[in-house]
Amino acid sequence: MTDTLTADLSADAAVRADDRGHVFHSWSAQALIDPLPVAGGAGSTFWDYAGNSYLDFASQLVNLNLGHQHPDLVAAIQRQAGRLATIQPSMANDVRGELARRICEVAPDGFEKVFFTNGGADANENAVRMARQFTGRRKVLAMYRSYHGNTATAIALTGDPRRWANEPADGSVAHFFGPYPYRSPFHAVSPEEETARGLEHLEQTIVLEGASTIAAVIIETIVGTNGVLVPPPGYLAGVRELCDRYGIVYIADEVMVGFGRIGEWFAFQAFDVVPDLITFAKGVNSGYVPLGGVVISDRIAAHFDTVPFPGGLTYSGHPLACAAGVATFEVFERDGILERVRDLGTRVVGPRLREIARRHPSVGDARGIGLFWAIELVRDKHTREPLVPFNASGADAAPMAAVAAACKKAGLWPFTHFNRLHIAPPLVIDEDDLVRGLDIIDNALHAADEHV
Ligand code: PLP
Repeated sequence: MTDTLTADLSADAAVRADDRGHVFHSWSAQALIDPLPVAGGAGSTFWDYAGNSYLDFASQLVNLNLGHQHPDLVAAIQRQAGRLATIQPSMANDVRGELARRICEVAPDGFEKVFFTNGGADANENAVRMARQFTGRRKVLAMYRSYHGNTATAIALTGDPRRWANEPADGSVAHFFGPYPYRSPFHAVSPEEETARGLEHLEQTIVLEGASTIAAVIIETIVGTNGVLVPPPGYLAGVRELCDRYGIVYIADEVMVGFGRIGEWFAFQAFDVVPDLITFAKGVNSGYVPLGGVVISDRIAAHFDTVPFPGGLTYSGHPLACAAGVATFEVFERDGILERVRDLGTRVVGPRLREIARRHPSVGDARGIGLFWAIELVRDKHTREPLVPFNASGADAAPMAAVAAACKKAGLWPFTHFNRLHIAPPLVIDEDDLVRGLDIIDNALHAADEHV
């Protein structure tokens, strides 16, 4: 293994050969991809076998909140592996119990139970199952422009093109429009109007779908891969109110935004709202060992005191994953991670991206919170025509590919999706590296300005 930045071209060729020979990759036409062989990483940087290093501004799918190779997480996994590598979920285990307790301690009052899963999709899958069992209803409402995972129900909930090829999916899902102030589906002209019209639209959807048939509404607290859509003031509180009025379970999908991404344990805590079920994964242990779960409100948990919950997974609450989760809590508390994210977001990233948006003709909008941001690239700031069309691929996507290539050439690994560049570095990134990364993005955007 390469643990420092040195070129090793024969290792590069060997990794490429095995990968292209035998690894079947996600979401891709296999003959058209060229995955980067990664040799190692540390903190907010990773490097390849050819001697190039990259600032990781995507945190490996917004997952690696504590960065690459965090020594505390690595040590916790090693210690646990030496003690008890695995144990079935129907037995009790110290790190599993400790992690569940610590999650409940940072959740709102009235959440005392955690069901562990292997990742985010199956967390959503099981949250929906709980809501259906609890309400005796079947239908679930989910937003267009959302991603909830790639298992049967989770992909059915998903409101983006990843669902299309997987249809017909779980038929008991209906989609609605969430708020998107920059491209308002409700033709609203202010955040207040966006909230009011968005809630009116959701209520109409509930009424027309039949309130008595709806088990749950699932919402990414801040929509992630579909655009870093921060809900306007009052929207989530209004969703809570509608759920209460119609007896519907409110599931907050916190898979991408939970555990510090916006400077809160759970993102909904910044919006003064309390859901009924909270799903999480990724940041809970920075994905060092797969882990996700559902935090369950007492009201719903009590339903399963005497009625068996019909679900389980062999790896539920895997000790190696939970040990990394406990270590995550220790690092967050010791190093003041939540405070640092809030500070870096308001002092460094927000002002710089807004300044970039003012200066670059191709940047139509900059939005976000904490270390979770997106800029939206356009051909015309006035009409807001996207730089590349929705669901662009091939030649259509070339202008965005040029921006991504310019970032990589300058040593930054970007997260681009359709006409957006997302900014989501590890929460432990040095301030100097953060500023250097924003400088790289600033320069790379000239490749987009050419298309204005
Ligand atoms: N929910 C959200 C909001 C996500 O962003 C993701 C993954 O990116 C998922 C669910 C699915 O998580 P996983 O890939 O761990 O199944």
